[in-house]
Amino acid sequence: MRFAEIEVDRVRLSEIEQAQQRMGDGRYGICVDCGEDIPRERLLARPMAIRCASCQAAAELHRRRHDAAI
Ligand SMILES: [Zn+2]
Repeated sequence: MRFAEIEVDRVRLSEIEQAQQRMGDGRYGICVDCGEDIPRERLLARPMAIRCASCQAAAELHRRRHDAAI
């Protein structure tokens, strides 16, 4: 397994843990970054989503930039 694949799994695992935590405290379905409701269609497609589509895209862009800087 390549390092990039391990990194993706680690990130997904952390998103799943955060989503489960948010279900517990009643914030499930609310974007962690902007506080807006995540659209129902997005939650159906990605039940573990913790951000709306635009914040997720911004976060992934930021992560790629961060990785490139290492
Ligand atoms: Zn958002």
